[in-house]
Amino acid sequence: MADRMTRVQRSRTMAAVRSRGNLSTEVALVEILRDARISGWRRHVALVGRPDFVFRRHRVVIFVDGCFWQGCPRCYTRPATRRSYWDAKVMRNRARDARQRRNLRAGGWSVLRIWEHELERPARVLIKLKRAGLAATKRSFA
Ligand SMILES: [Zn+2]
Repeated sequence: MADRMTRVQRSRTMAAVRSRGNLSTEVALVEILRDARISGWRRHVALVGRPDFVFRRHRVVIFVDGCFWQGCPRCYTRPATRRSYWDAKVMRNRARDARQRRNLRAGGWSVLRIWEHELERPARVLIKLKRAGLAATKRSFA
């Protein structure tokens, strides 16, 4: 699928991502979903692990994970100071995430994880979504 974001959109998206924190990465995914006309999702649904996006009909949940906080294997670099503190914290985050995702899967949910760095490549994110059965809503020309 072609990357449909213009350069301006992308730099806006990446500026939001760089500003750090879950909220901005969620907003970046909202833009990708809107751009691809994928609907049927809700945010902030009270489910195990508080997934960032829930597609109830498809039984799919999405977590948008911060490359630092969740210890992305590609991007995570250990801070220069207080290393044992940060190592322990990231390890706890990862263990908690793994546990929550197991519970969700046991409950019949498909669990998608999208790393913060993947938001730079909307086309790749869309491939992941498509594999999980999420696609653009067909437009009805009434
Ligand atoms: Zn990353």
